[in-house]
Amino acid sequence: MKTNRSFILMFIALAFFTGCSSDEEGSCPLTTWYQDADNDGLGNPNVSQSACQQPSGFVSNNSDTDDSANAEITLHSAFDDFDKENFTIYLDGSDVVLETNGHPNHTSPYWSSVNGRGRATVTSNHPLFVEPTVTSYDQMAPGFIDDFDGFFTLRVSANPSKASRSSSTGLGPIGMAISGAVIYNDQEGPNVPIDNAISSLDYTGAHTGPQSYHYHIEPIAWSLNDDKLIGIIADGFFLYGRKCNSTGNYPNDLDASGGHISTTQHSNTAEYHYHIQNELYLNQYYILFPGDYQGTPNAVQ
Ligand SMILES: [Zn+2]
Ligand SMILES: [Zn+2]
Repeated sequence: MKTNRSFILMFIALAFFTGCSSDEEGSCPLTTWYQDADNDGLGNPNVSQSACQQPSGFVSNNSDTDDSANAEITLHSAFDDFDKENFTIYLDGSDVVLETNGHPNHTSPYWSSVNGRGRATVTSNHPLFVEPTVTSYDQMAPGFIDDFDGFFTLRVSANPSKASRSSSTGLGPIGMAISGAVIYNDQEGPNVPIDNAISSLDYTGAHTGPQSYHYHIEPIAWSLNDDKLIGIIADGFFLYGRKCNSTGNYPNDLDASGGHISTTQHSNTAEYHYHIQNELYLNQYYILFPGDYQGTPNAVQ
């Protein structure tokens, strides 16, 4: 008798509790969430559920055409555009590892030369040396590109996904350009915007720093107002020029970091990527990537 009564009490309590919670659901907006089995931030339109809160493993996007979690991991075809001489790029499990000597594969006044800023130990111009045009010997930063026996490594997911919250970029390398040199943000030092050093940038938006030759603005050596691949940001997402291959024009749906989801010349599947934002800085420059990271960054070391 006693057992039966507790069962009945429990049943009444349960019914009461369920009734309560369904009342509460009425006041919260239901959203449709789509399964993201491969964790790429894109959801499977065929597998969904409605809930107030985002369920684990589900996203609001529903544009994934292949959500298979155990799809074979391959190197993204965008890596074909990275300079073969300067880079070594390989898969390690589900990660991609990029190694570069940090040298750009194009001309610059920052290559060693006997003229201008020459020094006794340099007896001939580097083959890629060109005279400064937009900067001058007086304004150039110290150091030749070939002084840096750089070795930079970046490890990113082969299938990067957006983080639950964005994070700001810091000083030093925040990505790697396809040329072989590294990418910096819009700061030249702690709380020092690039304005103060802009006169030292060469024609392609780069200069030397303590440990590297690096880009701050649109690298016109290979991309000027177009949809070319610029490089990879430290969170694993690719950075493209000001235009998007999906439309042939400036994207109008970019988030605060210059990112959006669309197809590219390297992917028929829509995927998240960044663009150089088509907004003038100091009336004449386009900052490469001011941030924030929308994915989880790894250090460029
Ligand atoms: Zn700099
Ligand atoms: Zn795009």
